[in-house]
Amino acid sequence: MAVTGLPPYDETNVFARILRGEIPCKKVYEDAYALAFHDINPQAPVHVLVIPKGAYVSSADFLQAAPDHEVAGFFRAVGAVARQLGLEAKGYRLLANMGPDSNQEVPHFHVHVFAGRPLGRMLP
Ligand code: AMP
Repeated sequence: MAVTGLPPYDETNVFARILRGEIPCKKVYEDAYALAFHDINPQAPVHVLVIPKGAYVSSADFLQAAPDHEVAGFFRAVGAVARQLGLEAKGYRLLANMGPDSNQEVPHFHVHVFAGRPLGRMLP
């Protein structure tokens, strides 16, 4: 499943363990394509992570290797999370880190959803 030039998927990463139910999470949403839960170290009043159920190292891996229905299902789940949390009226920010320059820490693709206060412009 991994794309050439990217590291192989590490089945022991923390989000893989959450998906397998080996460690708990504060779940906010789940469907066939995605799981969403509160970040353990929130950077905003609302800080939720949305992860695909498939084994993808990063956005690069996911967007090259995942079949169209998984990509569509995942991003629809991101939208559903924001709607379910009532974030659309005031707005929210989506962020996905990929690779070393972004400081991606967990090697399972994930989208951060930030909200709950004015977030400023782009990067701090
Ligand atoms: P990134 O730097 O984009 O890889 O972000 C990884 C995020 O995962 C960070 O915001 C961490 O706080 C968060 N995180 C790490 N371990 C857990 C966990 N067990 N439950 C929830 N969030 C976590």
